[in-house]
Amino acid sequence: MIIYIFISALTGFLGYKVQALSKKGALAATGVGCMIALGFAWKGLLLLGIFFLSSTVWSKYQSEQKGGIEEIVEKGASRDQYQVLANGGVAALAGVMMVIFPKEVWTFIFLSAIATSNSDTWASELGVLSTRKPLHIKTLKIVPAGTSGAVSMLGVVASFLGSALIGVVGSFVFDLSYQAAAVVTFAGFVGCLSDTLIGATMQEEFQCLRCGTRTERRTHCGKQTDKLSGVKGFNNDVVNFASSVIGALIGGAWIL
Ligand SMILES: [Zn+2]
Repeated sequence: MIIYIFISALTGFLGYKVQALSKKGALAATGVGCMIALGFAWKGLLLLGIFFLSSTVWSKYQSEQKGGIEEIVEKGASRDQYQVLANGGVAALAGVMMVIFPKEVWTFIFLSAIATSNSDTWASELGVLSTRKPLHIKTLKIVPAGTSGAVSMLGVVASFLGSALIGVVGSFVFDLSYQAAAVVTFAGFVGCLSDTLIGATMQEEFQCLRCGTRTERRTHCGKQTDKLSGVKGFNNDVVNFASSVIGALIGGAWIL
């Protein structure tokens, strides 16, 4: 266990060093890593590592092309503790539950939660690189890349591959069936889709009073933004957490 704590802390520290994580984000990631290692040992850490590494790589990939997105999304490239918990909280909880009530269902819940987060990160990091402008999932109108609810073909493909990677590697290391790989892939993909849907319907959206940009940010151009729509308190973290729960429940429901 000590080695797992060390690996988790080292990864958190490295994440902080490459500015993928804020200081508190690194602490939260270390905690999440330890809880996952508690329940799923190296297998859990391997999957968490795949998620963490691939999302860091994709977020740095062609980052100069993503310049405009920073204006729209609420947070920058360094993930804070809320983002870490929104993406890894359900997986960490599954790790703890595995220790208390060892049942295979927690493995499915864990894999599906990670698959959802991986799917969502791949979709958002790669989807914005689409050369064709994305459509809004609700209105089907063309919107700027990075808008909540924006869907591009590239994003959908990236979402599927991100989920499938966790499904395939997960079922391999946990010695599960091919069917399990498909279930986890499906759960992660639907979880990611629900993220887009919830983002499009319930997430708070604001507008800059100065430049008119529609944004998730509460301030823009140094001034308070005006709320356009969404449920109070429903920021990107809440949406991510909710979709992680949905993905996990779909994966877990299969085995019950
Ligand atoms: Zn502005």
